Amino acid sequence: MVVSHSRALAEAAVVLAREMLLDQDVAMEVAAGLDDGALGTDATAILAAVTTADRGDGVVVLMDLGSAVLSAELALELLDDEARQRVLLCPAPLVEGLIVAAVAAGAGAGRDEVAAEALGGLAGKQSHLTEADPGSASPAESAAGAALVETFTVVNPHGLHARPAARLVQQAGTLDALIELRNATTGSAWVPATSLSKVATLGAGQGHQVQIRAAGPQARPALDALRASAGRGFDELTGQAVASAPAATSAVTGPVAGTAVRQRGPVPASPGIGIGPARLLGLARLELPAELPAELPAEPAAEPAAEWERLTAARTACRDDIRGTRAATASQVGESAAAVFDAHVLLLDDSDLLDDARRRIAAGAGAATAWAAAIDRVAAALAALPDPYLRARAGDVRAVGDQVLRRLLGEAGPGGSLADVCGVAFAADLTPAQAAGLDPARVAGLVLAVGSPTAHSAILARARGVPAVVGAGPAVLDTVEGTTVALDGATGELVIDPDEAVLDRFRRRAAELAEVGRVAREQAGSAAVTTDGVEVGVGANVGSVDDARLAATCGADLVGLVRTEFLFLDRDQAPDVAEQEAVYRAIAAALDGRRITLRTLDVGGDKPLRYLPMPAEANPFLGVRGIRLSLARPGLLAEQLLAMVRVAHDTPVSLMFPMVSTVAELTAARAALALAVARAGRGQPAGLQVGIMVEVPAAALKTAAFAPHVDFLSIGTNDLTQYALAADRGNEAVTGLGDPYDPGVLRLIGAVCAGAGSARVAVCGELAADERAAALLVGLGVRELSVGPRAVPVVKQAVREVHHGQAAATAARALDADGPAAVRALLSNADAGEGLRPNALRPRHAVPAVP
Ligand code: PEP
Ligand code: MG
Repeated sequence: MVVSHSRALAEAAVVLAREMLLDQDVAMEVAAGLDDGALGTDATAILAAVTTADRGDGVVVLMDLGSAVLSAELALELLDDEARQRVLLCPAPLVEGLIVAAVAAGAGAGRDEVAAEALGGLAGKQSHLTEADPGSASPAESAAGAALVETFTVVNPHGLHARPAARLVQQAGTLDALIELRNATTGSAWVPATSLSKVATLGAGQGHQVQIRAAGPQARPALDALRASAGRGFDELTGQAVASAPAATSAVTGPVAGTAVRQRGPVPASPGIGIGPARLLGLARLELPAELPAELPAEPAAEPAAEWERLTAARTACRDDIRGTRAATASQVGESAAAVFDAHVLLLDDSDLLDDARRRIAAGAGAATAWAAAIDRVAAALAALPDPYLRARAGDVRAVGDQVLRRLLGEAGPGGSLADVCGVAFAADLTPAQAAGLDPARVAGLVLAVGSPTAHSAILARARGVPAVVGAGPAVLDTVEGTTVALDGATGELVIDPDEAVLDRFRRRAAELAEVGRVAREQAGSAAVTTDGVEVGVGANVGSVDDARLAATCGADLVGLVRTEFLFLDRDQAPDVAEQEAVYRAIAAALDGRRITLRTLDVGGDKPLRYLPMPAEANPFLGVRGIRLSLARPGLLAEQLLAMVRVAHDTPVSLMFPMVSTVAELTAARAALALAVARAGRGQPAGLQVGIMVEVPAAALKTAAFAPHVDFLSIGTNDLTQYALAADRGNEAVTGLGDPYDPGVLRLIGAVCAGAGSARVAVCGELAADERAAALLVGLGVRELSVGPRAVPVVKQAVREVHHGQAAATAARALDADGPAAVRALLSNADAGEGLRPNALRPRHAVPAVP
């Protein structure tokens, strides 16, 4: 019998084995993959296959690795005693083992003989490929128990902590040898090298002598590889932000007190001052239900299997989440920093942890209870270690444990819930859905280890008025829960455990900003008109009905962008027409007759939908997103347009298509809109305007071709900048490059204004919220700015200080500048000397405290 995660692999192995059998008939059964074709193993399928394979002479089960072994063991537990006696789980290599086992069975060998053949399946290949080493034991000797032992010295500054230990465990897992380790310096017991939690309990600090003991076919290569790897510090990079033991250290001005070398500081992402206790997402303890969940199957016999399946499913989901975070960390902070998440993935499959949980489930515990108890045991063992750094690894175990528990208890999401956070939230990153739920009344500030200011988590933090710094590096996640933190989201300053003087400085700055905001807010309700009489509409970007209410309070002239994705994200199916219509109406009602700009669904890229699986794309930002996805899913688009058209019959609506690259796309989208108008049955809505977002450089340069077909063009400077400069907006490593003040981007904006004819030109990217940019954009010909609701008053104020004629002259010079720094210098000079903004400059990024 073959048990594998992959059905394709199992079936191909059987075909290969049958090739060796000539005409002999050997029963071979397969239990591999999951019903939906996904990779995985299923204990009930294994049970069924074993029952079919069992003809009374015995069954030899060959498995690939990890959960294949666990599922097979679980299936065996579910067999009756008599049948179980006939089944043998064989630790042989799957493909080679199956081939020789099939040949032996075909020749009439019994169960044990077949299993022994399978175990020796690698012998032929090994003797052919392995150079004889006079000092090493032969594979046969090793397999017979003559283990090889070697010693290495730990060179890593923090010892065998999570990242190097994870590398070691990963390496050990790929070798066909039984490998164990012990800390010779402390005289510890031997532990399996394939269990991360056990390796961590060795307490191996820098300079400790660690013994490796290996037996089995690859014992010698295993020792050599591990020793070599140990000599390289298990490839842990030096000079990278390696956290010291988490501690409440004294305050310093700068990124993070008490951390070692940092290559990059936190990046300002959402203006405002945040002061409060550190709250680490994902580390809060969870309450377990006293009873087993009600949805468990009634028959007691099915319970352990069902509970194990629940745990397996929760682990699988968490694995995907952690890999997502790892990928983001790798691209935004660096590969070495991301390796900490490898440790988290390994913990999900940790043999010690799983054995414990499985035993508890078999004894009748529910999945959550069993998992929590196993986590507690392992975390407690780590917490008892003398080395403070290794002790702190208990936090990793608890973080992963909680992540799985949240899944089991029905709380989706990778990093813990924001609902119970009160203080300054710390997280690796936030999903858009989590960020959308930020409540400024409770979350005083946000510190993200990864990310960039134009990533959606930052945009949403701004939208929610939560001061934020991003890209702060993984070391911030070692901040001790509850430590006082002060941050300035406009400058990126982050101080852990500030002293009274620093706190006072932050408090004074918060008071100044509140005063500036108060003045701007007093005039927020009036129009923004330049000193020479050019009126500029200042609208708000909204991502919820609450945002729309806030926009009205902040004096927005209109809503220049409704990111309708918020309705579609973090749920299991798309909202229907009625739900969409109700929400769009609620947004319109909040604006009380002012125009709302509804953007059709803009997903893909960094905004995937659970119920709209999309094939993996190597470059999702260059793939099927925005209008491309809507045109590929005409049903989804038709429903959204119908809801929008119905609302447009009763309130002024602008309808906007995102990520348009070609006129053909616009024509197709307009045809879908015409169908929606017909379907609504009330003729063309009187106040309906149609426009596109200009986010693709080619579209900017083709504006004149689009202009006859639209009422307005809204420039999405976030995407336009990333595409123009080939700098991923979510990649912190290129944040400096993706600067919207780059003259290349400004020329594209200028091209849109020049080609627009009678169509209105708006900017709804983040650049519009920068006061200095208001002058530049108005000078280039932009007549509408749409910004986060809270920024409306200060942007209006900025427009009121602009002299359009002078701004136009400065903007023209900016197009010829040689880089963004020169553009900024030009604007400063204009401010100071030419009266571009005659009034005294207020602090940049002032954010009014809206009641
Ligand atoms: C933009 O790209 O500038 C924009 C406003 O769209 P989003 O940020 O939602 O991609
Ligand atoms: Mg965009």
